[in-house]
Amino acid sequence: MREPLHEGAVSSPGEDVESETAAVRKPSWLRVRPPVGEAVENVRNLMRGRSLHTVCEAALCPNISECWNRGTATFLILGNVCTRNCAFCAVRGGSPPKVNGREAHEVAEAVAAMKLVHAVITSVTRDDLRDGGAGLFASTLECIHHRAPGTTVEVLIPDFKGSRSALETVIKARPDILGHNIETVPRLYPSARPQADYRRSLDLLRAARESGTRSATKSGIMMGLGETHQEILQVMADLREARCDILTIGQYLRPSKKHLPVMRYYTPEEFAELKKEAYDAGFLWVESGPLVRSSYHADEQARNAGLSRSEGTPIVREFRRGKEG
Ligand code: SF4
Repeated sequence: MREPLHEGAVSSPGEDVESETAAVRKPSWLRVRPPVGEAVENVRNLMRGRSLHTVCEAALCPNISECWNRGTATFLILGNVCTRNCAFCAVRGGSPPKVNGREAHEVAEAVAAMKLVHAVITSVTRDDLRDGGAGLFASTLECIHHRAPGTTVEVLIPDFKGSRSALETVIKARPDILGHNIETVPRLYPSARPQADYRRSLDLLRAARESGTRSATKSGIMMGLGETHQEILQVMADLREARCDILTIGQYLRPSKKHLPVMRYYTPEEFAELKKEAYDAGFLWVESGPLVRSSYHADEQARNAGLSRSEGTPIVREFRRGKEG
């Protein structure tokens, strides 16, 4: 987003901006409530007051009402302007401003103020920075570990153009979950993610696992961009071959008429079937549903995965619910 539309580009909450024919008109299960209420205002004021961004807003996530009313949000660091231009992503592209030197500290303070048991940090892609922004991911992790030692932390990173030293910088700061979204099938990369590379993304996940990190690794796929079922099964197999632990599968939603059209809406039953197939492929934990995004109910995923900082070393010890989930 414009590396991965980390959360999957989506239409504004409660708003239908699709222009497809009746055959692909947005179905009822994708209609969501507008983000209103005191809890939503509290999150908004906290972010504005600390000059922070969320991917919830930047990517027009459909789950804002639900997540913010639960008191959770996903931080978007390194600004809210992306150096890439993925054709599915709502995040604004262009020349990003200078990195905010206080951002790591402000994120940690917000995590503490929100009393998050599990914090999720993602970023725009910053190909203009020598380290791709890895240093800020690391300092944000360190600030959170220091300010909120009981909070587990998940990072959803860009591909860092394949830089192993950038990846190592993040890993050394001890994330509990390290995620990188594969987003779609390799055939659709030229149209959906022209500046990304399928193999590079897989290699990043594999390198994270082979680094000896005790973090769980995680990835996500959007459905509805024109992929075939066989291609999705191959992506699952490729991710497992890269020893990716956790998978999220959600419906692509078109942020505007300038973005890629939705080729197909999958039914909740089809998402349930994909979940089963992902478990059969060997993933340790799978979230699959029309409104699932990388960070949707991430706190519950972490809890069910047995992650807890209060119990000691961060590690996926046990996936309690597994296939029955
Ligand atoms: S799913 Fe993630 S990005 Fe969307 S509102 Fe929830 S926390 Fe924010």
